[in-house]
Amino acid sequence: MQSYEFKNTPLPYAYDSLEPFIDAKTMELHHSRHLQTYIDNLNATLKNYPAYRNWSLEKLIYDSHKLPIKIRKSVERNAGGVYNHEFYFAGLLGGDIKEPPGELAKKINKTFGSYDKFKTFFSTNASSVFGSGYTWLVLDSMCNLRVINTPNQRTTIADNLCPILNIDVWEHAYYLKHYNKRADYITDWFSVINWDMAEKRYQNCKRFCRF
Ligand code: MN
Repeated sequence: MQSYEFKNTPLPYAYDSLEPFIDAKTMELHHSRHLQTYIDNLNATLKNYPAYRNWSLEKLIYDSHKLPIKIRKSVERNAGGVYNHEFYFAGLLGGDIKEPPGELAKKINKTFGSYDKFKTFFSTNASSVFGSGYTWLVLDSMCNLRVINTPNQRTTIADNLCPILNIDVWEHAYYLKHYNKRADYITDWFSVINWDMAEKRYQNCKRFCRF
């Protein structure tokens, strides 16, 4: 697990590999500038607080209430920004896979009725985020799939909801290509979901729920 000093690692795919759904310039700016800024701000916040330098990104988020009040808000915002972006980028892959494979697919069908109904439900939620934030597919502690929204850089792990997928609906995630049409971006995002990663995350989340 990473801790201070946090670094921006290259994406496991090329910036243009999500074309035509998400354009290369958006990916480049999003990764090399937006994420980088959260990393830089998080490092700057922790710079003069050596006691917290060995805390993992997750611990900084979970245990932010234990941090000095002076840096708490900054850590919550910036660690959240790093976590949410890394999760988002790792959940994407080119290739235009239309439907999820595996056990997660069965769970989605069982929970939402069908993959199409899930898509509609998820899209409606993502469209309804007011201002900036994320929409997530999570597994709760009772092992139920849920779709939830978080504002700004709020994570789900702070609320013990185990994340499987997230879509960044901040305007910087789509404005260059989709302008103000968030709904079109959401539709395109469904074509670049890394379902193998989602399946892995689902299997991992299942270990933490109580039946
Ligand atoms: Mn973003």
